Amino acid sequence: MTEQRTLAYWQQMAATISIEGRAFIAGDYRHACSAETFDCISPIDGRVLAKVASCDSADADLAVSNARATFDSGIWSRIPPAKRKTVLFRFADLLMQNQHELALLESLDMGKPISDSVDIDIAGAANSIRWTAEAIDKIYDELAQTAEDQIGMVTREAVGVVAAIVPWNFPLLMASWKLGPALATGNSVVLKPSEKSPLTAIRVAQLAIEAGIPGGVLNVVPGYGHTIGKALALHMDVDTLVFTGSTRTAKQLMIYAGESNMKRVWLEAGGKSPNIVFADAPDLRAAASAAASAICFNQGEVCTAGSRLLVEESIREEFVQMVAEEMAHWKPGNPLDPETNVGAVVDQTQLDTVLGFIAAGKEGGADLKVGGEQLHKESGGYYVAPTIFNGVTNQMRIAREEIFGPVLSCIGFDSAEQAIEIANDTDYGLAAAVWSSNLSKAHRTAKALRAGSVWINQYDGGDMTAPFGGFKQSGNGRDKSLHAFDKYTELKATWIAI
Ligand code: NAD
Repeated sequence: MTEQRTLAYWQQMAATISIEGRAFIAGDYRHACSAETFDCISPIDGRVLAKVASCDSADADLAVSNARATFDSGIWSRIPPAKRKTVLFRFADLLMQNQHELALLESLDMGKPISDSVDIDIAGAANSIRWTAEAIDKIYDELAQTAEDQIGMVTREAVGVVAAIVPWNFPLLMASWKLGPALATGNSVVLKPSEKSPLTAIRVAQLAIEAGIPGGVLNVVPGYGHTIGKALALHMDVDTLVFTGSTRTAKQLMIYAGESNMKRVWLEAGGKSPNIVFADAPDLRAAASAAASAICFNQGEVCTAGSRLLVEESIREEFVQMVAEEMAHWKPGNPLDPETNVGAVVDQTQLDTVLGFIAAGKEGGADLKVGGEQLHKESGGYYVAPTIFNGVTNQMRIAREEIFGPVLSCIGFDSAEQAIEIANDTDYGLAAAVWSSNLSKAHRTAKALRAGSVWINQYDGGDMTAPFGGFKQSGNGRDKSLHAFDKYTELKATWIAI
């Protein structure tokens, strides 16, 4: 394993890896109907990794009609749940057997550190598939408590054809949060990966076949949002649209659903999460370390990034200094080096966005404490120094908009009431954290926060057992846990007269 954890190992593998760029429909790879492709560019060094099928509405029609036919055939939708479970276990096993190849594709494609790709993205995706598969034959339907001469059965049925549109920041992991419950409940899926990170989705479609998932049950259509994404969202034969991505796109998808067949739309969208540190935090050094990690992990390209650090005024200067010291451990470098903990941001556009926000922070009067510049320009890739702004007010652009980069905004507060007010003064409601040794204060604050996940004396804890999703403009519905099944099933009431 040590040999595998070297830069040379991954570079050697990168030099010889064969990359598939075609779409996957009805169990086979195929070019886009138009034969169009787009360049898949690595943010590590700006080189073209592959030509990828640029799917559009013709491919959407083909994929959806195959998904529909497969669903109606019952070859997957009507087999016993325990059989689907066994096949999905094999799928999860295959993800792990191909863990290094998939991890390498993820890092090459979107620039994240290879150690994270191996241990978090691919291992997490396999775990997500396995967790949901394990549950599927242990969930029971209901009988209504009703009149003596009636039986009221409440059953859950697969919705049918699911379109899943996913982002680039955790490409396979976000896809797996959809695929696990969608496939376990018997649906057929058309998966659209981000045009910025299509490679692992394309590859795992083949592994699904190897695992025994019938062709047509999992289709993958790479391409742009405004072409294939829009076509799926407007499609009259898609029953449910599940999405992870920006709030801007999420709103557009609701419009498309309204303009077409009123398909169900479930949205996991953006965030601007507050991380609240009271002066009585049990361990300020641990809180500072977590605050740095909360904005540097995955280059800050995390929906739950702790991008607003709210610090009690009496310790603000001291604490921000500690965060700066902790941030020094987060160093952007070659994503293929297993020691690297901050990789490249996903592309030139994202780099420009992040640098634009840094400029806006300076212009807005925030105090640039650390970072603020582009790094490793000579590599041809896109790297940004982890950045801290102190003295930020919650009205500044850097405190209001999702930056999706390693840029932290520190805001002072004087009381718990003021911290809660600032924390909730945002369009988003995805996550939040509270640090205090006072159990009652921590709990009262957590309760008052309008967010789907709240952490106390930690940042970003949790696993598959709890639902994940947002309040307000961070979305609706939940991924993970048994609650995720709500998105992929319809409730049916059947009344029997006896
Ligand atoms: P994005 O909205 O730009 O794109 C997401 C997906 O939507 C991509 O596949 C894209 O091609 C597609 N898309 C774009 N426009 C479309 C359209 N008009 N019609 C149909 N599809 C369209 O988001 P992104 O930049 O890929 O991802 C970053 C965003 O994702 C951030 O806002 C982040 O907070 C969010 N995110 C949320 C969660 C969560 O669970 N809440 C998790 C990860 C990322």
